[in-house]
Amino acid sequence: MTTRDWDVVVVGSANADLVVGVDRRPGPGETVLGSDLATHPGGKGANQAVAVARLGGRAALVGRIGDDGHGALLRDALAADGVDLAQLTTTPGVPTGVAMITVGPDGDNSIVVSPGANARLGPADVAAARDLIAAASVVSLQLEVPLPAVEAAAHAAAGTGGRVVLNLSPPAPVPADLLALCDPLVVNEHEAARLLDEDARPAGHADSADPAGLAAALARTGPRSVVITLGADGVVVTDAAHAAPVRVASPRVKAVDTTGAGDAFTAALCLRLARGDALPDAARYAARAGAAAVRAHGAQSSFPTADELPEPG
Ligand code: ATP
Repeated sequence: MTTRDWDVVVVGSANADLVVGVDRRPGPGETVLGSDLATHPGGKGANQAVAVARLGGRAALVGRIGDDGHGALLRDALAADGVDLAQLTTTPGVPTGVAMITVGPDGDNSIVVSPGANARLGPADVAAARDLIAAASVVSLQLEVPLPAVEAAAHAAAGTGGRVVLNLSPPAPVPADLLALCDPLVVNEHEAARLLDEDARPAGHADSADPAGLAAALARTGPRSVVITLGADGVVVTDAAHAAPVRVASPRVKAVDTTGAGDAFTAALCLRLARGDALPDAARYAARAGAAAVRAHGAQSSFPTADELPEPG
């Protein structure tokens, strides 16, 4: 029998988030002055690995960074939270991924992502990490790294009895054989709607009008189970153990900044699945982690420890 040394191995992105506040955004050919630059560790893969570790899970990240200052910042942040970095590769001559973020006066974000080293992650990196992946209870995947790496990781995990969780963000079509390994597929309601063909959407659907119908429609596209996050309105879950979609409430918290809520949620979900929870129970715990993350600014800086979780909704 394989020893599962890791609760969650994340195969995904690491970015430096470069944040500038602006009164208004420049038009073409225009320059505006903004606030001081703030630089934070980010990227969905790194965020999820940090969130697992902060909740007390054994987490590792398979990814790529550049040999620059941003790469060093990311490595330090991940190490400080105890994420295993044996398969985080430094790529010479390539910049670390960055997300250039302007924040408007109402807190609205505009983001340009330069993938940098993330775009160099491929099946060879996954092959190099095969022992790590084989020792993972759950392998957590997102789409900020190239699809061939994601597919290779999903097949490697499934081939050694690991559970595959795919957070389909940013949303993009994925091949049927990858979808069939997802247990669950995790999306927010907007991503869910974009994934379904017009004619597969529940009648009269307008994003949050019928989340259970949306989950059922998504389940019919092939994943083993589906989780749709609905912000303050909670979560809807479908799996083979339940005849109808199960609705989970979000804790009521004062929302300050929703950045990273989805990553905190998915990480906590993976951790509880790794520890043996049924999917609705894991989603109930994950909703508490997502809610905790909206109580403070930033992504990794807002992620909770286990004793900081709010009561269930
Ligand atoms: P983001 O892209 O902002 O990181 P997302 O769109 O992927 O997030 P959401 O559905 O906004 O994901 O949030 C994930 C989970 O976090 C929700 O299902 C919920 O449990 C929790 N959450 C998010 N916003 C709130 C809120 N305002 N109050 C309570 N819980 C929240």
